Amino acid sequence: MKVLEERLDARIPDGPLDQKWTRHQGEMKLVSPNNKRKYTVIVVGTGLAGGSAAATLAELGYNVLSFCYQDSARRAHSIAAQGGINACKNYQNDGDSVRRFFHDTIKGGDFRSREANVYRLTELSTDIIDQCVAQGVPFAREYGGTLANRSFGGAQVSRTFYARGQTGQQLLLGCYQAMMRQVNAGKITLFPRTEMLDLVVANGRAIGIITRDMVTGKVEKHCADAVVLATGGYGNVFYLSTNAKGCNVTAGFRAYRQGAYFSNPCYTQIHPTCIPPHGEHQSKLTLMSESLRNDGRVWVSKTPGDKRAPDQIPDEDRDYYLERIYPSFGNLAPRDIASRAAKRVVDEGRGVGPTGVGVYLDFRDAIGRLGAQNIAAKYGNLFDMYQRITDEDPYKVPMRIYPASHYTMGGLWVDYNLMSNLPGLFVIGEANFSDHGANRLGASALLQGLVDGYFVLPYTIGDYFARFKKLDASADHPEFDQAEARVKDRIRTFLSINGRRTPDSFHRQLGQLVWDKCGMSRNAEGLKEAIARIPEIRQEFWEDVKVVGSGEDLNISLEQAGRTADFIDLAELMCRDALAREESCGGHFREEHQTDEGEALRDDERFCHVSCWKSNGTDPDPDLILEPLVFENVQLATRSYK
Ligand SMILES: Cc1cc2nc3c(=O)[nH]c(=O)nc-3n(C[C@H](O)[C@H](O)[C@H](O)COP(=O)(O)OP(=O)(O)OC[C@H]3O[C@@H](n4cnc5c(N)ncnc54)[C@H](O)[C@@H]3O)c2cc1C
Repeated sequence: MKVLEERLDARIPDGPLDQKWTRHQGEMKLVSPNNKRKYTVIVVGTGLAGGSAAATLAELGYNVLSFCYQDSARRAHSIAAQGGINACKNYQNDGDSVRRFFHDTIKGGDFRSREANVYRLTELSTDIIDQCVAQGVPFAREYGGTLANRSFGGAQVSRTFYARGQTGQQLLLGCYQAMMRQVNAGKITLFPRTEMLDLVVANGRAIGIITRDMVTGKVEKHCADAVVLATGGYGNVFYLSTNAKGCNVTAGFRAYRQGAYFSNPCYTQIHPTCIPPHGEHQSKLTLMSESLRNDGRVWVSKTPGDKRAPDQIPDEDRDYYLERIYPSFGNLAPRDIASRAAKRVVDEGRGVGPTGVGVYLDFRDAIGRLGAQNIAAKYGNLFDMYQRITDEDPYKVPMRIYPASHYTMGGLWVDYNLMSNLPGLFVIGEANFSDHGANRLGASALLQGLVDGYFVLPYTIGDYFARFKKLDASADHPEFDQAEARVKDRIRTFLSINGRRTPDSFHRQLGQLVWDKCGMSRNAEGLKEAIARIPEIRQEFWEDVKVVGSGEDLNISLEQAGRTADFIDLAELMCRDALAREESCGGHFREEHQTDEGEALRDDERFCHVSCWKSNGTDPDPDLILEPLVFENVQLATRSYK
């Protein structure tokens, strides 16, 4: 690894923190309404980030080409989000403010995010709720009609707006309606069932993408004045995760190969409340929303190996370990902390359930206090889902939960304008690295996606167009031919190997390795082992993968092969990043760097920076560029939730 001297300019505006965005808005250049129609923007992704961006850009007058691999834009993974969306409206009058939300987010991310980005996120949170209410999103309301709030981890106020356990779905429907209005107006052209397989860069600027029609197999070129990636996170690198099965890193990783920097890939979030894995043939894990920790109490037996049924374990034999260790935040300790605490009790032999890999999330007391009916009103669909999957009734028996891969804070590097280091390539939502540092607070991902798409990108992309000379973008450009040839060549190679193993079997093998060596806790020895082992998996993959069918029609095996190949390369980058970051922070827990109480121990002297990886083509040894993080408004402190 070579550390380059290159200085990355995050283009953070001058001035006081609380005026940066307003000033920037006033200073950014504009494209006049008549000229907007001359620009075309490619938006890859139709989740909350891509959907909100596409709708808003089209509403402004730009021509938008919108891509997703699902059969409908409405089925993007954002639809799975359950628990809620944060905004510091302070409807509860419980002491919330932009400053408090900002502080909670910086601290939650373990002081590894940019102050200016986080402030803007929290500042715009209140407008997002107004925007969504205006679209008709049916947020839960109090009896008197005001919007209801609940609490999520890492906060001592209630700032999470929700629509039962279907918040993502309702927000996405709002967004989708806004998109469809523009489809109808002819400003958005939809390309569902279309997978982006490469980015086209000419003279250092992003000018288009290469796609494959997933039904006909046709490989096509699309050119534009700017490309926006809103392609979600890479949590499926672990194979088992709460993400939809289709979530993948291909778009981001192809962009990385074309020169975009990949930042902090080792920052992954392991969510504490998921249904535990139960067997070797499982392909997916299910989230039980963090909102459940408002009323559910987490516990295990005080005695290792205790085989008694939960209702046979009296209170004095139970260890409500989050309430014991973190009395101020209790069951609402942030995700990284709650996950590690669960791992510790399981490692001590105090895990529950048939596999011993799990802890209880118990609603007995809440049902006693509020009544089953009220609990059902808040969480009914989550309880039903749990019962359908486990065949256990959580109104009667405590849920069993265990941490699982859920979200990725790492992603493509972007500046304050959400533009990558490649001019013309913007990255929004979970696909970028920008706002959550080393650990994201629950209910802030939906917020980030919508803030990026509705309120930030529509300004900053105009500034880019107004500042940079308009390109004569055309698919005849030689770079398009080269990119198309790369894609076709890769497809041909997959189809020709004709080995013995399915792409999925390689993905599962890789995921297990990454989970063991670069999951909830990591150490140098394990990471080095993974870095040695991954090239072997890569070689086996390229020699022995079997892709059935042809390239000319729907071929899931071919899709999986491409995605697995990128996950293999990303996994190696993740492990290198985790090895290089010799500290613990947020979700990145290096066993060598912990306090006497087993908490993450940061090294601010050496690691108060964003790690940005620059690809050296297919050479697995990438270069590293550091973006220093400057804190002017908060003091770097040891995170404590006690
Ligand atoms: C089960 C679950 C529950 C969650 N609950 C919450 C919650 O309550 N609150 C919260 O704040 N966050 C929650 N999250 C996190 C949140 O849902 C995600 O971070 C967020 O929805 C990501 O939105 P996005 O728009 O960035 O990406 P996504 O919604 O993942 O959308 C990605 C889009 O990109 C497209 N795409 C990707 N690659 C390609 C390609 N190569 N070619 C073409 N198209 C491509 C996909 O088709 C899709 O349209 C939850 C996550 C999970 C897994």
